Amino acid sequence: MADPRGFLKHTERKTQPRRPVPVRLLDYKEVYEAQDPAVVREQASRCMDCGVPFCHSGCPLGNLIPEWNDLTYRGRLDEAGQRLLATNNFPELTGRLCPAPCESACVLGINQPAVTIKQVEVTLADHLMEHGGLDPVVPGRQTHKRVAVVGSGPAGLAAAQQLTRAGHTVVVYERDDRFGGLLRYGIPDFKLEKHILDARLRQMEAEGTRFRHSVSVDISWQQLRQAHDAVLIATGSTTPRDLPIPGRELDGVHFAMDYLVPVNRSVAGLDEAPAIDVKGKHVVILGGGDTGADCIGTAHRQGAASVTTLAIGVQPPEERPAHQPWPTVPTLFEVASAHEEGGERSYLASTVEFEGHEGRLTGVVVAETEIVGRERRPKEGTERVIPADVVFLALGFTGPEPSGMAEQLSLDFDSRSNVARDGYYQTSTPGVFAAGDAGRGQSLIVWAIAEGRSAAAAIDQWLMEEEPTKLPAPVAPTDAAIAL
Ligand SMILES: Cc1cc2nc3c(=O)[nH]c(=O)nc-3n(C[C@H](O)[C@H](O)[C@H](O)COP(=O)(O)OP(=O)(O)OC[C@H]3O[C@@H](n4cnc5c(N)ncnc54)[C@H](O)[C@@H]3O)c2cc1C
Ligand code: SF4
Repeated sequence: MADPRGFLKHTERKTQPRRPVPVRLLDYKEVYEAQDPAVVREQASRCMDCGVPFCHSGCPLGNLIPEWNDLTYRGRLDEAGQRLLATNNFPELTGRLCPAPCESACVLGINQPAVTIKQVEVTLADHLMEHGGLDPVVPGRQTHKRVAVVGSGPAGLAAAQQLTRAGHTVVVYERDDRFGGLLRYGIPDFKLEKHILDARLRQMEAEGTRFRHSVSVDISWQQLRQAHDAVLIATGSTTPRDLPIPGRELDGVHFAMDYLVPVNRSVAGLDEAPAIDVKGKHVVILGGGDTGADCIGTAHRQGAASVTTLAIGVQPPEERPAHQPWPTVPTLFEVASAHEEGGERSYLASTVEFEGHEGRLTGVVVAETEIVGRERRPKEGTERVIPADVVFLALGFTGPEPSGMAEQLSLDFDSRSNVARDGYYQTSTPGVFAAGDAGRGQSLIVWAIAEGRSAAAAIDQWLMEEEPTKLPAPVAPTDAAIAL
């Protein structure tokens, strides 16, 4: 245990410092600054090393949190980092991007603010990057079994790393011109600078994982299956949810990803200027999740005149409500870094229509949301117009793109349009597996990594038949966040 009296001495939760808003809006660099090592050590000392560490169950990866908190407190950062890597392929990603369901399950959280687990994690991840923690782990044997991983997001990369280290020959196929999935062109640099992703990709390449970019396998799923002993579908959930209301066709109404991807490409120096520039414009964002928040941060960096986010539901509470007690993951009013940077957030706002003039968007007609039973509908007579030059639809994703793989591999899909799998990540076609958002539906990076690791274990078992797999499987396809 870090310090038996740590949680009594240090009752305050000290989170990671962020660059001042006016400064960070001038660039796309990461918002967070490194925490003072003394503060990280103090925070780690608040961990009570509980007999039943609920944080393990809160984290889909089953990260060994009390163990690395203890080692961090003792200043043994190399060992702490190795304990972190034992369960998590990419702590530099989760340490930056995970919403930390582990902290909702932290036992200290019952009557004190939870341990800053995610901050300890990112500190250890950065320590690993600077002190040889990304040295290649080269497999001790080669099985000569070939695995195709389609999609290079966190699920595909985690599976590829596990399978390569188990001695299989793994090729990652990606249709984009660079690897990383949503980490590359979806998530802006102010949340994740891409050199961090590149460092991890270099490690994977040195370990023997093969990468092929600009390859959409849509026309050749069958050939891919024939040329490999197993195939993993890790193509994400990329079909955006639309809002087919009057005015949807107006110039100025865009899907969020049609905005974020070109901006992120231009920040990476790949394209000269993004297709959509909102400088001086009034921006309305529909949808309050991560995608919406990334649009807010990007719009402010481009110099938007105003940014308004509309959400159809009620504003979540700031404190844990009684119906979502510890250790469940509560739905709370989230203040992400982008929300600190400005903009208005409006709840119970139902979008009724997009208004325009000569084919161009001029405003959004919204009404108060009326909630009747499970139905949410616009309340008549409450309509108002919000002036808008640009609207971004950040309403989530409805599932993977089924084209090609559905017919060629005769795949089954579940009732939510995701690729159906059995308890071992195998689809209806033998030897074809699915992990990450493609199978789970739109989710989180930590779940994608956990599914990638688990699917790798299932594939290893399928390939090696009699030989029991040594790869860990932290989650089953049907596992979900702790809830009542
Ligand atoms: C804007 C945005 C911000 C987000 N922010 C966060 C966050 O802060 N924290 C968090 O935890 N989660 C966040 N998420 C969710 C998270 O990014 C996803 O849950 C996660 O990336 C899913 O990983 P994946 O590997 O399943 O799929 P993806 O990351 O979507 O990767 C799938 C890859 O497959 C490729 N592909 C698709 N079809 C083919 C094909 N036919 N052939 C070859 N390649 C193909 C795609 O090009 C893509 O690169 C965010 C999502 C979005 C959209
Ligand atoms: S990966 Fe996420 S849930 Fe797991 S320990 Fe890290 S911050 Fe917590």
